[in-house]
Amino acid sequence: MSNESAMQLQSREVQLVSRPQGEPTEENFKLVTTDVAPLGDRQFLVQNIWMSVDPYMRGRMKEGKSYVSPFQLDQPLDGGCLGRVIESRHNEFSVGDFVLANAGWREYWTSNGDGVTKIDPALAPLQAYLGVLGMTGMTAWVGLKRIANLQPGSTVFVSAASGAVGSIVCQIAKLHDCFVIGSAGSKEKLDWLQQSANVDAVINYKEVENLIGELKRLAPNRVDIYFDNVGGDHLEAAIEAMQDFGCVVACGMISTYNATEPMAAPRNLFKIVSKRIRIQGFIVRDHLADRDEFIREMSAWIKSGKIVWNDTVTQGLENAPAAFIGLFSGNNLGKSLVKISEP
Ligand code: NDP
Repeated sequence: MSNESAMQLQSREVQLVSRPQGEPTEENFKLVTTDVAPLGDRQFLVQNIWMSVDPYMRGRMKEGKSYVSPFQLDQPLDGGCLGRVIESRHNEFSVGDFVLANAGWREYWTSNGDGVTKIDPALAPLQAYLGVLGMTGMTAWVGLKRIANLQPGSTVFVSAASGAVGSIVCQIAKLHDCFVIGSAGSKEKLDWLQQSANVDAVINYKEVENLIGELKRLAPNRVDIYFDNVGGDHLEAAIEAMQDFGCVVACGMISTYNATEPMAAPRNLFKIVSKRIRIQGFIVRDHLADRDEFIREMSAWIKSGKIVWNDTVTQGLENAPAAFIGLFSGNNLGKSLVKISEP
């Protein structure tokens, strides 16, 4: 593409136009068409192919400081994306390179290379770099390997077990000969967990009357590790069913993200003391130094068929808000992705 035609290029992007109160709705978002600026020296132009929608983005839709800065109103959202370089004036990025960056929610973007990673398309399908080989897969790996200090034979309870992070947690734990109990919100998800991810026992938390009772029934020897993606009643049940000196890997608490009032705490917090439970939160991006090791180990597991995954694909940038909103009603099995263009 010549510089002149790049000057005329337009890109659609999704902007946040109001901050959600409770559940996000389509009205919080707007699709806007903008001009793409011509390339400067040492810049390249990327066309997005895939973008990721993630629960943590809900936190960025709130005002105020957190571990990531809030999204600005009337500005494009951002997040994980994978695209192809279609024009370049940069000597390290060539036309045809596939790149990973944090410039989702739009069709095209230009860059000087900061925060952009080239990926190897031969290793796995492109979109895997936003899931099993990307941020969510690494979250599962870091949580078990660096936070839980996973030991073979442990009993591991996982909430949101069929989601992007949870489905990989379950399988890594199985690869370490653990007994894995997964909780999820539909029969289809439970079937996938047992048939594809090899999980030992499952709980449909939407149907079970007594989560604590069911977890204790399925884990008579008690839970050693709880990988928390949900918080609330799941955390309370895990504390109740936990072994002395057990560990809670506090990864996320999606049941609280749309709350408009402060949530009730787990009512059994004293059991953290009496059972000497360790609870540790973590943020995956603090562990970027481990990324090469993670990619090496995960790609070997993928190559040998030891880790499988499912993607839930939404077609078209205009449907990205719906894909995001769907995370909170469990519309996804595995990683929720939006396909923006063909490779
Ligand atoms: P998922 O792919 O798991 O999607 C979210 C899933 O959560 C839904 O499919 C739904 O499945 C479940 N869910 C939604 N609302 C509730 C609820 N009220 N109670 C119980 N389950 C619910 O998302 P991710 O794998 O990307 O993220 C999972 C968790 O990990 C999130 O809490 C996220 O914030 C956290 N995270 C943390 C990171 C870190 O660095 N600490 C990095 C990445 C993610 P179902 O049908 O089973 O209800």
